[in-house]
Amino acid sequence: MNAPFRTEASFQEVDDRLTSLMDALFHPTGVPGVYGRKGVYEGVVERLAAFISEAREDGTEVLRFPPVMSRRTLERSGYLKSFPNLLGCMCALGGSDDDIRAAVDTFESGGDWTEALEAGDLVLTPAACYPVYPIAARRGPLPAGGLRFDVASDCFRREPSHHADRFQSFRMREYVCIGSAADVSAFRDRWMERAKGLADRLGLSYTVDQANDPFFGKVGVMMAVMQKRDALKFELLVPVRSAEKPTACMSFNNHKEHFGEVWGLRDAEGEVAHTGCVAFGMDRLAVALFATHGVDPAAWPAAVRDALRL
Ligand code: ATP
Ligand code: MG
Repeated sequence: MNAPFRTEASFQEVDDRLTSLMDALFHPTGVPGVYGRKGVYEGVVERLAAFISEAREDGTEVLRFPPVMSRRTLERSGYLKSFPNLLGCMCALGGSDDDIRAAVDTFESGGDWTEALEAGDLVLTPAACYPVYPIAARRGPLPAGGLRFDVASDCFRREPSHHADRFQSFRMREYVCIGSAADVSAFRDRWMERAKGLADRLGLSYTVDQANDPFFGKVGVMMAVMQKRDALKFELLVPVRSAEKPTACMSFNNHKEHFGEVWGLRDAEGEVAHTGCVAFGMDRLAVALFATHGVDPAAWPAAVRDALRL
């Protein structure tokens, strides 16, 4: 069952510089994209979280979510239409004590105990904002100007990789706007500008470019074309692994009416609400900082140390 995963206990970036960076920041776990994090790395992630909190707009409600969420909520959100290939679903041994004992016996005699697993009602959260929309919908019509949230979650995406910028388990922080079409488009434009200011203060080189999600399957190709045509997704890209293939460290998304329709969200005028978010890939930003400024935060440029209060 381990076939898709390689289990070498070492890092295998294409570039030696990044391999030694990975060694300095992480402990391999035998699974690509799943790492133990060293103190020096976590210290920067903590400072980065505080740096992003300082940029929070007034009137933004803070919510933190666990690494698992309701399977029903994610199904209703349309995730199986968009990214079924990335989803992780919690499963566990069910049935009677005898059934569970039989599965353990199967394992102890060298068999495949996982055949006895049953899917549970939880999935691994793939993006921090999914749980916020039904919470907002339960409050009834939106106030004029809409609502803004600050959300974060450990996220899982089944995209095993040895690259320094792609994890299976990573932290995502988001500012989310739920409101009228005008509220959301102003929010997204405003955050694209603010995010550049944040990246400048972190001493990161970047470009901001239009993007599309890698939606699953043939229908997904069409969805990606439409997303790009309608300029619904932008990314702030940092040259972490190379300048030719820069890494998306933040994304700026306009979901239009999608979540409004799914959850019955209405703006103050009674129209279907629009939603949008700015997502900060915490682990990507941290890796980008180390890749740019070196493995020792004590030796980072003074302005960057000041910004992060290091
Ligand atoms: P990519 O094109 O690189 O796969 P994405 O478009 O899938 O990125 P989003 O869905 O917009 O990314 O997620 C928001 C942010 O979360 C990204 O901008 C990135 O910083 C971070 N992120 C996404 N996937 C990963 C991953 N596998 N490992 C680490 N961070 C990630
Ligand atoms: Mg992706």
